[in-house]
Amino acid sequence: PKLSVACIGLGVMGAGIASNIVRSGFPTRVHNRSPEKAAALSALGAVSALSAAEAAADADVVVLSLPATRDVEALLFGEAGIAGSLAPGVVVVDTSTIDAVAARGMAERLAASGRHMLDAPVSGGQKGAAEGTLSCMIGGADEALARARPVIEAFAKTIVHVGASGAGQVTKACNQICVAASMAAVAESVALCGAMDVDAYRVREALLGGAARSTVVEKHMQRLLDGDTAPGFRAVLMEKDIGIALDTLRGLRVASPVTAVLDQLMHGLVASGRGDQDWCSLGHLIQERSNR
Ligand code: NAD
Repeated sequence: PKLSVACIGLGVMGAGIASNIVRSGFPTRVHNRSPEKAAALSALGAVSALSAAEAAADADVVVLSLPATRDVEALLFGEAGIAGSLAPGVVVVDTSTIDAVAARGMAERLAASGRHMLDAPVSGGQKGAAEGTLSCMIGGADEALARARPVIEAFAKTIVHVGASGAGQVTKACNQICVAASMAAVAESVALCGAMDVDAYRVREALLGGAARSTVVEKHMQRLLDGDTAPGFRAVLMEKDIGIALDTLRGLRVASPVTAVLDQLMHGLVASGRGDQDWCSLGHLIQERSNR
């Protein structure tokens, strides 16, 4: 018999994730805080549950897609938290991007009562979620992943088991730090080109032939030069992810000069009214701040 699944959180990412799980034939119960988001999934054959506890009761695998650390903590361990009502042996697959230390702590709390939790943050955006082609970075125990894998395969094309609990969130943080740092460098570089009347498209070509070659130079720099600010990945989301990364680094007392600057830049980008633009508009912020 197929694993029974509960999907909690049906927003931009969760709706696509849940729809692919339902389409793969898993009996699925869904729940979202604002219930109208469950309607489209009911049409696909999911059962809409009135509460998270009702959705998760007896489920073999519980997939979460919630905004932030505090939402995941509240859902599991808050006043109406569902942790105590989860079936023994359940695997909670948390696809939300949250704090790595908190993720590890929650997994340990659940493990004490024989329940498993994988941190399973994703990249690939709304499109990847809708198409079932997300990349999923996993932290947690082998047995838990083995059990939940068929469900994760329904929504992710790439599944990398990075290590123990927390390792998935660490991977996501590393990814966002590296990508954002590259974009900040590209933004400054493009401003330099402008100040010297050098064709930044030509500079990009040259960079792609050398050690600076990267996805950011290839794709995001192109977007910036084309003035294409439609998301993509919204600036508010990168602001949130960098904020999480910085909190995690500071909590662990890891020196974080780069991420601290990125955090300021992302706050500045959102404060400049560009929160809903693609985050590569960081380049426009640097241009604006350049005293010319
Ligand atoms: P979203 O705000 O669109 O969706 C979150 C959903 O959770 C909302 O529908 C909300 O109503 C629901 N919710 C919140 N608390 C709840 C609760 N207690 N019970 C039931 N439902 C609850 O956010 P999103 O863009 O789908 O992102 C979800 C997670 O995935 C975030 O952690 C985000 O950082 C991460 N992520 C997003 C993207 C992206 O491109 N949007 C890409 C990768 C990762």
